[in-house]
Formats: sequence, structure tokens, C-alpha cells
Amino acid sequence: MPETQTKSANNSIVAGDVFRRQQQHQYVVARSTARRRKEKLRNLHAAILRHREAIKAAMWADFRKSPHEVDISEIATVNSEIRYAIRHLGSWMAPRRVGVRLPLIGSSAQIRYEPKGVCLIIGPWNFPLNLNFIPLVAAVAAGNCVIIKPSEHAPHSARVLRMIVAECFPEEEVAVLEGEVEVAQQLLELPFNHVFFTGSTAVGKIVMAAAAKHVASVTLELGGKSPVIVDETADLNRAASRIAWIKCMNGGQTCIAPDYVLVHESVHDALVDKLRVWIGKFYGDTPEARRASPDLSRAIHDRHFGFVQGLLNDAVLRGARVEFGGRTNPDERYIEPTLLTNVPPDAAILEHEIFGPVLPVLRYDNIETVPAYINERPKPLALYIFSRRERTIEQIIRETRGGGVCINECALQFFNPELPFGGHNASGIGHYHGKSGFMEFSNARGIARQHSPYPTTNLFLPPYGSRLMNLLLNWLVRWL
Ligand code: NAD
Repeated sequence: MPETQTKSANNSIVAGDVFRRQQQHQYVVARSTARRRKEKLRNLHAAILRHREAIKAAMWADFRKSPHEVDISEIATVNSEIRYAIRHLGSWMAPRRVGVRLPLIGSSAQIRYEPKGVCLIIGPWNFPLNLNFIPLVAAVAAGNCVIIKPSEHAPHSARVLRMIVAECFPEEEVAVLEGEVEVAQQLLELPFNHVFFTGSTAVGKIVMAAAAKHVASVTLELGGKSPVIVDETADLNRAASRIAWIKCMNGGQTCIAPDYVLVHESVHDALVDKLRVWIGKFYGDTPEARRASPDLSRAIHDRHFGFVQGLLNDAVLRGARVEFGGRTNPDERYIEPTLLTNVPPDAAILEHEIFGPVLPVLRYDNIETVPAYINERPKPLALYIFSRRERTIEQIIRETRGGGVCINECALQFFNPELPFGGHNASGIGHYHGKSGFMEFSNARGIARQHSPYPTTNLFLPPYGSRLMNLLLNWLVRWL
């Protein structure tokens, strides 16, 4: 057998073996008390802190991710999610008594949140800790067994994830399986109870089709083009600083990064000027300083570098103006933060998710046209509004559809565990973070109990058609 085939067969055996052991062990994990689950989460919290430097080193090796951004967007975010879950887990897990309507009087009802069972988490490379471990926190809080398949494009990070998980959980409870795409494909053939996927919309469709074979529920956290609307009343300084920050964070490789800006024509030039100033302040005033900045991550691999470079070339070729930046270096996979104006509508950069530090700034003259522009495209994962006019803010929210909204800031909607995080249709299915994550990994089981020695259901037993029954039915269909 050729070497690749042998490797593939071995991967498949390992995946199948871990899965079966988790299937057998799932009821032990499901029976765990809130106290025990909190203990597991505390261990995870401690292990992440213990390996803080190793996490940073791994992400630097993978795509030169800034160690400070690792603290902000990975370690602090995951650990705050853990602490939030520990604080609230008891109340999330508690069975909830609910009322009964008049015709069911004499009975009671409750909802129990049961773990889904054995869950698969397939993660992307761009926030390796955050996007594998926040779902893990929710899955563990809900009492599930989990297999995590991190991305093959961030192998150093994947190794650290595996080490942390191995220190905190036995393999029959949580396991990290590293490897190429085929590992994910082999895992998707197994009858998981839930599949939680973060990645591109194209692969999300493949994952959903695979899950359908086992009627497994799915959470799909996908991508898309997230617009920023800046109207003429906005605080331009605030808008520019936040857009520049979140657009360039992680080298622009953030699912909720502003993808493009729609700005009122009266403040278009002023916004572009301020964006220039803030990018300079953040990453350096000269091209050399920016290239040397330790805070600008690189494109994850040559293919992605080529993709963003292609979008940039295509836009320029079609007449877009480079207002700032535009330099790239394939050897380092470096893309300078870049501002584009005058981008023609047929440019590819206005069609594809950019996922790089290149920002098209488009002008509008009438706010009434903005919702239609957004709604003609696939639903975005995030939508940002910079405005001081309440009417405009409300109008944009009411007349558009998609994932979370953030007003006069960028990315806040991700960092608040009280908010459900997720997209809609092309940008995703389902939500997580905080209680939403716990619910996503739980099956809400409705339990009704009859207490009455003379249950109301007696009145509806066959043979049908008594006078009393007809009277009751007439009342029921009209009034309840
Ligand atoms: P990707 O879809 O290429 O890969 C994600 C995961 O899927 C990886 O683990 C990979 O091994 C696996 N995979 C790839 N091809 C597969 C296949 N054919 N079958 C089964 N599994 C397969 O995504 P990526 O490049 O890692 O991440 C970038 C994309 O993810 C962007 O579109 C971005 O917007 C999106 N994203 C979304 C969120 C969110 O929270 N909604 C967060 C981060 C990234």
C-alpha cells in the first residue's frame, strides 16, 4: 500500500476508535454534576494560563500573529468565556418548570437540558485557540464528549491545543485529532450527534451535507462580507480608529473584520484621511516601519496571499485608486494595510470575502439605498454602523438581515457572552457564546407528567362525538 494510503487508513482507524470510546463513555460524562463540570473548566482555564507563552510562540510560528493580539483575542477571550460559564452553569443546567394551559390542568411540565452526546468541532486556522476552545467550553458545560479537528494550516497551534486538552481530559471525553482535510472527511463519516463547524461557506455546505447523512444537528459559523456604514453624523475619528484596528487585526484574517465601508459622500475624503492617520499610528508611518511592525500578521499560506494579491491587482486594473499602502511581499506573505477608493462595481474585491488588510471604501449619497445594497448580497456575519442619528441606526438594523450588529465600535458583539454570536444562511446557522453555546450543545427535552386521578384527557377518549365532547371541542378551537 502506498505511504499516503497507509497514513489515511491509520487516521481513519484512530478517528473511529476514539469516537467509539467516546460513544461508550458519553453517559458517564452526561451524568456529571455542575460542580464536576466547573472543575473541568477550571482545569482548562489553568492549563491555558500555564501554556500562555507556548500558545503565543505557536501562533507566531504559524502566521506571525502578534503576541498581544493572542492575549486579547485568544487567551483573554477564551478564559473570560470559561469564567462566565462557571458562574452561570448551575442555573443553565437546572431543569426549568413551565406552566400548563387550562385543558391540561392536573399535569405538570418541565424542560431538561441534556447533552447532545458525542460532538465534533472542526475549527479554522485564524483564531486557533478561540474558535476551537469557545465551542469546547460550551460543549463541556453541556456535558458532552468532544473530538476537535483543528486546521492543518496552523499546525503549531494545533499541537499546543492537543497538549492542553490531553492535560485536562481523558481521550474518551475530549480529544484533539490533528491532520489534513482527510481527517475531517473521515470524522464526518461517523454518526456524531452534533457537528460544530467554523470556516468558509463552501466547506460549511460540505459539512452540512455530511451531517445530514446521520441527521446530526449542525452549528455553522461561516464567513462573508461584513459592511461598515459611516454616515455624515458619525464621529469620524472613532470610526477610523476602530475600522483600521479590527480590519488589520490578525492580518485582516478575521471573520468579523470590516470587509468594506459604505460612507456618506460628504465625509468620504475626511474618513479616508483619518484611516490613513490611524493606520500610520498603529503600524508605522513609513512602508518599512509597517513591514517591520510586530503587530501585523502575515497571510496564512501562499495560496491565500495570492488570492488577496489577485483581488488587489484586479481592482487596480479596473481603475480603483490606492489611497494608502498597496505594497506586498510574497516571500514573507506580507500585505500592507491598504485603502482603495473608486472601486468599480464589477471588481472581484466587491464580490469575495477579502480576508486580508485591504479595505475598499465606497461612497453613497442617500442612506435609503444602503439596505438594498447590503440585502442584494449574501447575509453578512457582522454589520457595523457609525452614526449619531438614532433614526439611521434603527433603519439599518430594521431593513437589513444577517449576524450581529455593532454600533459606534467594531467587534464588541463578539466579546460579550450575553449576546448570541452567529450568522444567518450564507454566514451561518446557530449561535454560541455564553448561554447560547450551552443551548447549542444541549437537547431541550420537554417532560410532561400527569398527576390527576381524573385527567382532562379522559374527556377526549374515543368513541368520539358525545354532546359534552362536541361542546368542549367548540370551546377549545375558538378560545384556546
Ligand atoms: P476552511 O473552510 O478552509 O477550513 C476550516 C476547517 O475545515 C479546517 O479544519 C479544514 O481542515 C476543514 N476542511 C477543509 N476542507 C474540508 C472538506 N472538504 N471537508 C471537511 N472539512 C474540511 O476555512 P479556513 O480557511 O480555515 O477559515 C477561513 C474562513 O472561515 C473564512 O471564510 C472566515 O470568514 C471563516 N470564519 C468564520 C468564523 C465565524 O465565527 N463565523 C470565524 C473564523 C473564520
